[in-house]
Amino acid sequence: MQRTFIMVKPDGVNRGLIGEIIKRFEQKGFALLNAELMTIDRSKAEYHYMEHQEKPFFGELVDFITSGPVFAMVWEGENIIEVSRLMIGKTSPTEAMPGTIRGDFAFCKEENVIHGSDSLQSAEREIENFFGLLKRHRLEDDFPFEDRKSV
Ligand code: GDP
Ligand code: MG
Repeated sequence: MQRTFIMVKPDGVNRGLIGEIIKRFEQKGFALLNAELMTIDRSKAEYHYMEHQEKPFFGELVDFITSGPVFAMVWEGENIIEVSRLMIGKTSPTEAMPGTIRGDFAFCKEENVIHGSDSLQSAEREIENFFGLLKRHRLEDDFPFEDRKSV
């Protein structure tokens, strides 16, 4: 089982796409472990996007992701990092296939509705950045997924 960090970006929250995105992950059979609507500060955003700090669009990217609330989530499932990236689709709307979240809802690469971790390492770092270590395990400890399926 893998865990990944999925975030509805401010444009997705603003357009009312949280429910649609949760629905797609639930229908796929993944388990939601934690979720929170939050507005993040620049330091959290800069740490989240640290791999892009040398890019010319880094400032704009941080401006955008801190411009309004995001819906941050931790999801669990088999091969979820790879599968969720397929469900999300490519970064650019000219490459994101119909049927993917970005293919169906995003019309520009600067504001493309959703983020998903691209590796085990980034998933760990991103989950810790948004939820911290203790909080990350709380829901799962209280109410394991195996128990939830039989409810
Ligand atoms: P992702 O992993 O598919 O989200 O894409 P990347 O890791 O390559 O880029 C991170 C995010 O930066 C993307 O999802 C876009 O929101 C944003 N981004 C990518 N290219 C540009 C750009 O040229 N300008 C701006 N403003 N943002 C960009
Ligand atoms: Mg990326």
